[in-house]
Amino acid sequence: MDFNSLVETFELMEQTSSRIALTGYLVTLLKSTPANIIDKVTYLIQGKLYPDYEGIEMGVAEKMVLRAIATSSGKDVSEIERIYQKTGDLGEATLEVMKSKSQSTLFSEPMTVERVYSTFDKVARTIGVGSQEIKLRLISSLLNDATAAEGCYIIKFVMGQLRLGIADYTVLDALAIAFTGDKINRHVLENAYNVSSDLGTVARLLATSGLEAVSSIKITLFKPIRPMLAERVRTAEEALERTGSRAAVEYKLDGERVQVHKGKDRVELFSRRLEKITSHYPDVANALKTIKSEVILEGEVVAINIETEEYLPFQELMHRRRKYGVEEAMESYPVVMNFFDVLYFDGKSKTEVSYMDRRKLLKKIVDRIQNSKLSLIKQTIATESYEIDRFMAAAIENGCEGVMIKHLPSTYRAGAREYAWMKLKREYTSDFADTLDLVIVGALYGRGRRAGKYGALLLAAYDHNTDMFRSVTKVGTGFTDVHIEQFYKELEKHIVSQRHARVDTGMEMDIWFEPKIVIEVIASEITLSPSHTAAKNTIRPGYGLALRFPKFTGKIRDDKKPEDATTIDEILAAYKRQLKAVGHSGAKVQIEEEEEHDKEG
Ligand code: ATP
Repeated sequence: MDFNSLVETFELMEQTSSRIALTGYLVTLLKSTPANIIDKVTYLIQGKLYPDYEGIEMGVAEKMVLRAIATSSGKDVSEIERIYQKTGDLGEATLEVMKSKSQSTLFSEPMTVERVYSTFDKVARTIGVGSQEIKLRLISSLLNDATAAEGCYIIKFVMGQLRLGIADYTVLDALAIAFTGDKINRHVLENAYNVSSDLGTVARLLATSGLEAVSSIKITLFKPIRPMLAERVRTAEEALERTGSRAAVEYKLDGERVQVHKGKDRVELFSRRLEKITSHYPDVANALKTIKSEVILEGEVVAINIETEEYLPFQELMHRRRKYGVEEAMESYPVVMNFFDVLYFDGKSKTEVSYMDRRKLLKKIVDRIQNSKLSLIKQTIATESYEIDRFMAAAIENGCEGVMIKHLPSTYRAGAREYAWMKLKREYTSDFADTLDLVIVGALYGRGRRAGKYGALLLAAYDHNTDMFRSVTKVGTGFTDVHIEQFYKELEKHIVSQRHARVDTGMEMDIWFEPKIVIEVIASEITLSPSHTAAKNTIRPGYGLALRFPKFTGKIRDDKKPEDATTIDEILAAYKRQLKAVGHSGAKVQIEEEEEHDKEG
């Protein structure tokens, strides 16, 4: 397949601000892609070579890329640096440099997708001493035969700057339309994706063997499963009503969710967003080798004070996310893994088994391990709400956030957020005080102390029905000077030239971002707003929902993908709860007049 056809699609995608058009371009591209490379094309359009869980990166230094462009264009590195400074994007700089280069056609190899992919693959796999030089040669070899536009996207890809923002759901929609003629079949693809986390494999199977083959994709060791999620409840009574008066109650620990895959002689740990994090917890991985069977387990890893055996707050785990000095961090910040589920045992998926039976099996597995690093999460069965309240009080006293309440007959539903699992946290019992995880989609420049940086960020919630991000607030408070610096640097990597096609808002911003970074905020209330588009027209024509007095909590949720952000439905439910709490008649529905262009938020 001609690499140029991919490049032409990328150009169209970058120029559109319509989600429908974006899907349309993708459908056309997928239809014209040969079935034997559709997996590769699926990864490439998302800026990857493999699914996330493989953890394979290009690992190319910017300096090397500058040299590669110089070698191929015959220009000085300093000149390329100057153009780079002007464009702010290395891909665009390549475009400019290569435009003036005469095309060498005589001895050049054709630029096919296969060639580009396999060269990228070699670049990623070249490691160790002298690897940067080899990578340079590989990239130059592509640039030598590329047109300016091809060169631009080759460099964008290599630098991880392909900002098309095509999420998994957009690809699933496009695949369903391209190969089954109807978006309605997306759920079959989604189920397969939920248990395999590998869009490329789903795409290839669909293109080569059809929908039925896709529906038979099963849980496999070392391919992480999308996690089952919980709905919020406000009281123990509500939880019991929803479970038919008998439920399991578990401690809700405040750590990091980890999915453990243990084969015959290999162990891997995956994060909530299904990235490989084995290297963060080598002590846990080692302890897991004592399990005899092949298993997939889920649990919460928590930092612990060895002397007092107390759980420590989530922030303590941050010390474990490092490339170097892991040994010392292991000593200084010990952790314990607390299992709460089993999804696979000795060759068989357990997701269809009831919670009750999974818990029994889990207990058996953990009971056999004699290792203080691995334990079973505390649990009880409750039939009365006071039992849940009592268990919750004990959980909080022991450093937990609250409790998880689980429906006894429920199966494990990968990727689903339903009332089979419920979270009851301390804060929910008061008025609207829960935190929200929102995606940064735009910003206003700051003034005064924040001059030259961002004064306020535009945040959006996820609309899972349409795969869009709809704005719900601007936030300018809760940031320290360090945060402001950090956000400025981090967000720079995600700047796009116009409002992203998957972002919907009535707000005018100075700068726009590809939806990537999720942050946690609190707010005092939810109000109606004519400028924000979350749940627009649902409560009142022309109005969406917005947050009042939003504040950044200081937590960047890098364990969440943008599609894991708080959803519009959740905000709508919170708004309705809030109305109920004040009483319908006296409901003080406030119309948030968009404050005057207040650049400090
Ligand atoms: P969510 O994961 O639901 O999107 P979140 O990351 O903000 O949201 P919470 O709202 O705090 O997390 O609740 C769910 C999380 O609680 C799980 O993803 C898991 O990390 C954690 N957790 C702690 N204890 C348990 C338990 N016993 N069972 C399931 N999850 C638990």
